[in-house]
Amino acid sequence: MIRRLLVLMLTLAVPVRAQTVAPGYSPEAATAERAIEADVINRPSPAEAAAQSRFLSLQPHMAGTPAQARTRDYVISQMKSWGLETEVRAYKVWMPHPISTRVWRISPDPIELNLQEGPIPEDTTSVAYPQVPAFNGYGAAGDVRGEVVYVNYGLIEDYAQLDSMHVSVKGKIAIARYGRSYRGIKAREAEKHGAIGLIIYSDPADDGYMRGDVYPAGPMRPSHGIQRGSVMNPNGDPSTPGYASTENAKRIPTSQMEIPRIPVLPISYGNAAELLRGLSGNSIPQPWQGGLGFRYHVGPGPVQARIAVTTDATTNPYKEIWDTFGVIRGSDYPDEIVMIGGHRDAWGPGAADNVSGTVSVLEAAHAIADQVKAGKRPKRTIVFATWDAEEWGLLGSTEYVEDDSLRLSKSAVAYLNQDDIAQGPNFSAGGSPSLRALLRDVAKEVPDPSHQGSVYDVWRKRANLTADSLEPQMGDPGGGSDFAGFYNHLGIPIADWGFGGPQGVYHSAYDSYHWMSKFGDPGFEFHATAARIGAAMLLRIANSDILPYDYVEFARTMRRFGGDVDRAIADKHWKVSSAGLTSAIAGMEAAAVAFDDARDRALTAQLSKETLKNVNATLLEVERQLTRPHGLVTRPWFRNLIYASDENNGYATMVLPSVNEAVRVGDESGVAKEMADLASRFDSATRALQRATALIK
Ligand SMILES: [Zn+2]
Repeated sequence: MIRRLLVLMLTLAVPVRAQTVAPGYSPEAATAERAIEADVINRPSPAEAAAQSRFLSLQPHMAGTPAQARTRDYVISQMKSWGLETEVRAYKVWMPHPISTRVWRISPDPIELNLQEGPIPEDTTSVAYPQVPAFNGYGAAGDVRGEVVYVNYGLIEDYAQLDSMHVSVKGKIAIARYGRSYRGIKAREAEKHGAIGLIIYSDPADDGYMRGDVYPAGPMRPSHGIQRGSVMNPNGDPSTPGYASTENAKRIPTSQMEIPRIPVLPISYGNAAELLRGLSGNSIPQPWQGGLGFRYHVGPGPVQARIAVTTDATTNPYKEIWDTFGVIRGSDYPDEIVMIGGHRDAWGPGAADNVSGTVSVLEAAHAIADQVKAGKRPKRTIVFATWDAEEWGLLGSTEYVEDDSLRLSKSAVAYLNQDDIAQGPNFSAGGSPSLRALLRDVAKEVPDPSHQGSVYDVWRKRANLTADSLEPQMGDPGGGSDFAGFYNHLGIPIADWGFGGPQGVYHSAYDSYHWMSKFGDPGFEFHATAARIGAAMLLRIANSDILPYDYVEFARTMRRFGGDVDRAIADKHWKVSSAGLTSAIAGMEAAAVAFDDARDRALTAQLSKETLKNVNATLLEVERQLTRPHGLVTRPWFRNLIYASDENNGYATMVLPSVNEAVRVGDESGVAKEMADLASRFDSATRALQRATALIK
């Protein structure tokens, strides 16, 4: 999962607009909905969340292991017991597991590094269960040795800096610190520059004692703590790019898969010191100095290292994974689907990542299921999903989306994601601009665990806004979690939220129930609060007369991005004009304002169910128009033209990626072509809004 702290928050706060009480609801329906939401918000229980967390984080449960069958069966049995219909979808994916991973310093003073995180007595999980090996998913098998070169964060600009220092990693073992980019990008860049192996470590300056007391005394990463994680860049099973990994799906050969070809291993900062301390050579640029107690150098050497990785890639690379679904059929519009999901796999016990998200999904399911038993069934169908193998590269959700793409394209109203949602008191949220107003509204209804008002009140206070007219900043959909298939591939509006805090057990054996109940969420109130928001969000969307998307906020957000494109073009002194794009976005804003007016007027009258159905089917098309079938030039799977993860970073978000990728590579005619293409898609979105308006006028 993406680390929230590392997401570049590019959105500015959006000014408040006057709104009706609950957009998309008639006045009477809004009153009824308030009561339903107040009831559902009351239901999730911190005690039940704690019990579920305890069960699900009892042992490490990496994808492709028997422990994942246990979490699958638990989630299904819970949902069944609450009266939900359930389904399991299995996929067979190419996912080699490690057999052994070893790292040595072979010169000077040969030692083998101990890659065990080790038991901590009060953390009983770390004592009772063996850790998942220290490894990076989809790193290659191999046995390499060579001089060590320190490459800072292993970013593209770090290699440019090394070039200017006349230092090369060719034929060497690169050592990079975690942070500032997705680790798959670090692997790609190391390989591209000729490294024969890559070691990635957690530096205490970014993730360790420089940030706070270390576990078990504090929440931060101890000297032997290890961050595992995938180093594959594309999403989904690499053996079935763009289509589902069903039983008889055609598989591409390993040689064609987009995966690293060099061994990559993660180590702790305790071990990294053993390799970095003895490096000599060039003095480093000051920002490259990390938090270990000596002056860093880049090398190469004289320290030499050896990395040896063996996997089951040639003997047993295909594993079965399981997505689970719990379904509550809608009473009025059973074919329209609102979905919430979170991944169920982890690199260890995973109490935060992502037992917390799984528990939030479960608690929301329990709350709504109990309402159904009490006679209040939502109007639209709600689906509660848990995904497998997210940690390897969003495999479970991607294969599902590819498998069910026709149905989802036609009928998915929204997808809500829950990943790493309870690690402290700091609320954050994000998603499509079309759902942000809704999420803010719901956050106003839910009490904050601090008892200082609503989640929204506390969020506002912490944001230190300079004016009453400003709203707290919300995150853009980039990459890094299971919304990607829904958002990037199919153009379905998404939202996510959670509570963050100081955290140093990401992808470690210490992401345990003990850590969670001592530091992350001792009373399990944040778990329950995330679930309250989830349940209310689901119902607000599922029960609306007219789907509560906010395309005014959407278009105004786009207007800012259009302005950024303008400035980029001016900076380059290009002749190409962005006027067409700017006016297409302005057209969408005008159409959205007109639609909101017509909607609010129409909702005071009585609209037939048939009309509502047609309006909603038309509204569903608006954001889908901003995708294109052949996707981005750089990545055809990414069809959504509004946001994508930055292909040179992985964690950062690129807005209007078709245009801005062309800007970045300096392709003026490409920029012109992409702006014209994007403008025509905004025009299509505008026409969908106009059709919806005509239907209710
Ligand atoms: Zn996660």
